[in-house]
Amino acid sequence: MELINNRYQIGGIDAMSLVEKYGSPLYVYDNAKMKAQYDKITGAFNDVNLKINYACKALTNINVLRFFKKLGSGIDAVSIQEVGLALKAGFSPDDIIYTPNCVSMSEIEEAVNTGVHINIDNLSILEQFGHTYGDKVPVCIRINPHILGGGHDKISTGHIDSKFGISIYQMRHLLRVIETNNMQIEGIHMHTGSDILDVDVFLRGTEILLEAAVSFRELKYVDFGSGFKVPYKPDDIFTDIDDLGRKLTKRFKEFCKNYGKDLVLMFEPGKFLVSEAGYFLATVNVIKQTTATVFAGLDTGLNHLIRPMFYDSYHHIINISKPHAKTRIYTVVGYICETDTFGWNRKINEIAEGDILAFYNAGAYCYAMASNYNSRFRPAEVMVHEGKDYLIRKRENMDDLLHNQIESEIF
Ligand SMILES: *Cc1c(COP(=O)(O)O)cnc(C)c1O
Repeated sequence: MELINNRYQIGGIDAMSLVEKYGSPLYVYDNAKMKAQYDKITGAFNDVNLKINYACKALTNINVLRFFKKLGSGIDAVSIQEVGLALKAGFSPDDIIYTPNCVSMSEIEEAVNTGVHINIDNLSILEQFGHTYGDKVPVCIRINPHILGGGHDKISTGHIDSKFGISIYQMRHLLRVIETNNMQIEGIHMHTGSDILDVDVFLRGTEILLEAAVSFRELKYVDFGSGFKVPYKPDDIFTDIDDLGRKLTKRFKEFCKNYGKDLVLMFEPGKFLVSEAGYFLATVNVIKQTTATVFAGLDTGLNHLIRPMFYDSYHHIINISKPHAKTRIYTVVGYICETDTFGWNRKINEIAEGDILAFYNAGAYCYAMASNYNSRFRPAEVMVHEGKDYLIRKRENMDDLLHNQIESEIF
């Protein structure tokens, strides 16, 4: 968001005018930022055979999927429904990888029937898959290298207690299942969770994955998952993609040379591609002075943006109505009948009732996790593309709330 002539702009469009046009609260996505992030990865890995699969669970609006298709991305889908969305968005099955966790064999069979790539993350399903398909359907194997990606407990996936992936300590068993069923392993994968703080820790995971990879002779790709950290605060640390690009490219090329084949290097970023492109705009309903703090109460809550309450994530908040007012300390809260605090002790330009606040980093896992709790409508979504704004999801209404409810004849 840029401040130009006292007005905040998103992708060249006046943010306040978007609220006037589409109502409040409102999600706004800036495509130029998504592209810039995509280009950062392709730029850092321009010397390998790179394939990016957008992890669409971060933000599943079909227009966002189509935008990434235009950029040349594939899709990482974690459910059969996301596979369906990606197909509907126009992706070919070959550009979709399905990476579920703890789903039924019948859902996996459904995915196989669509022709997408299948990533399996536990031995039980792998065995069933082997019995069903043998060497007919190639699979990718998700390995848990047991390194810590970093970040909050709830988003960390690579540790020893994690439910994700097949433990690297189960390699013998894994190979036995594969050999017995004559299975074709086309890819090997790890995803160590969000928030890679340290490139060298990531590279340690890489070593473990590549060491495992030599056991498979028919690989086409190595998928390094995601977990790129983005900045949340003005001077926050983030994953140094260029540094990762240099180091991993060197290591991967060396691996391919020894392996005797040029493999595809895959990533499946979600947050990195869309987090910073999104803004959530909300209106201040109430300013409430208590003995302890000043609350700014908004026309939204954990029903629309749950990350701060769910896993303590930080979203930078500014008052776009008063760019130059003196700053004061606020506790920013929602309107839900639960404690839904967006941020404590925030220094924000003095807020009056009716002002519009903007949340940063609202692209990833924000709308995607929104609900109808308290029977509130979910907000509208707007996409800013090449200097124009497009409504890409309507605000819900009463009909949406009742849509699947059946008014029974009991009463
Ligand atoms: C969620 C997820 C991602 C994306 O993670 P980000 O931290 O948003 O980049 C990638 N791969 C898999 C398998 C996932 O479940």
